[in-house]
Amino acid sequence: MKNYDYLVVGSGLFGAVFTYEAMKRGKSVLVIDKRNHIAGNIYTKEEDGINVHVYGAHIFHTSDKKIWEYMNQFAEFNNYINSPVAVYGDELYNLPFNMNTFSKMWGIKTPAEAKAKIAEQIKELNITEPKNLEEQALSLVGTDVYEKLIKGYTQKQWGRPCDELPAFIIKRLPLRFTYDNNYFNDRFQGIPIGGYTQIVEKMLEGADVVLEQDYFKLAESGKLVDGSEVSWDKLLFTGQIDEYYDSCFGPLEYRSVRFETEKLNEENYQGNAVVNYTAADVPYTRIIEHKHFEFGKQPTTIISKEYSSEWKPGVEPYYPVNNDKNNAVYEKYAEKASKEDNVIFGGRLGQYKYYDMDKVVAAALACVEVEL
Ligand code: FAD
Ligand code: UDP
Repeated sequence: MKNYDYLVVGSGLFGAVFTYEAMKRGKSVLVIDKRNHIAGNIYTKEEDGINVHVYGAHIFHTSDKKIWEYMNQFAEFNNYINSPVAVYGDELYNLPFNMNTFSKMWGIKTPAEAKAKIAEQIKELNITEPKNLEEQALSLVGTDVYEKLIKGYTQKQWGRPCDELPAFIIKRLPLRFTYDNNYFNDRFQGIPIGGYTQIVEKMLEGADVVLEQDYFKLAESGKLVDGSEVSWDKLLFTGQIDEYYDSCFGPLEYRSVRFETEKLNEENYQGNAVVNYTAADVPYTRIIEHKHFEFGKQPTTIISKEYSSEWKPGVEPYYPVNNDKNNAVYEKYAEKASKEDNVIFGGRLGQYKYYDMDKVVAAALACVEVEL
């Protein structure tokens, strides 16, 4: 029987950074994943010369120079800047909410005119301290932008009305009174040339990796899918924390996403990597045209339509629903987890946090500092 210092459950970004750092410090690591590939949700797959973001559009962005440099050890990043557009009926607007959006919406030109328009739209609402996403959005951008670009999209994305969602979700997006369509405020941004999977491949070099291996089956039998017996001193778990504890405090809610991917026999379908469909009557939230992340010139193209749904067992969980109710349940799991000597929880599912990639890398490195 082989014994490892660490069993890492999940070959996503958190598990991969932890594994890389643990091996650098001389530890032996076994990585398992229940999927048939490494890299979790940042997995990209090359098809017809195009790197397809199989689990949705992933743009790396950070303000932390150390995290940017850390990632650049594993791949060269291009100069892609995310500038999605939003389609509402037969209207098209720039995102995030900026002077291009306001100018198109109201036929105005200056920041003062835009601010006056927003102030006029919200003066009757008397929102002093926004209590939820709806109030937050209205107080920032007024009723027109809220109705056309936020309300329908958010309800599709989260399956809940905007007044039942936390305000922080909308604060992820920049609001600017300049003509600047950059979706992020971060200093550093780009897409790894050649896709994300190579990054995780390099991080996992030297570790034993077993795919299509569910942790709970291994824990029950002590055996891997090939029948070999293994043991470990410590566990890093990057799956759902409530599942680990058999939902003893009740289940946490997640949103899932279904991707409908098509190959099209045309060079350029939508002229942009990301186009959001913000009206409630369009069933998908956005269409991704993968080639544009790497300025692809291939003769054909690949697009993915993104449909959101409530998570249920048997489908992939993608987004934690961080409202007060779920956060309170999560706190109980976190409290239980803090008493464990030999188990660490990490990542979007293990820590039940709406983490972007840079925050996952930072959290994994912080975990390494404490642990190793
Ligand atoms: P994951 O990638 O989910 O990895 C967890 C792994 O654990 C999975 O591979 C899973 O199969 C495995 N696992 C779970 N349970 C078990 C089990 N019981 N046994 C074995 N294996 C198990 N971030 C950005 O910075 N920029 C973006 O543009 C961006 N876009 C996104 C778009 C979408 C649609 C989504 C869903 C996320 C996006 N993110 C983005 C966030 C990014 O995906 C995450 O921050 C990051 O991938 C989380 O890494 P992780 O290791 O925590 O989780
Ligand atoms: N959002 C919106 N309209 C848009 C884009 C985003 O209302 O066209 C809101 C929506 O509530 C979404 C949130 O802003 O959940 C955060 O958007 P982001 O693009 O960061 O979501 P992610 O890429 O994580 O799905």
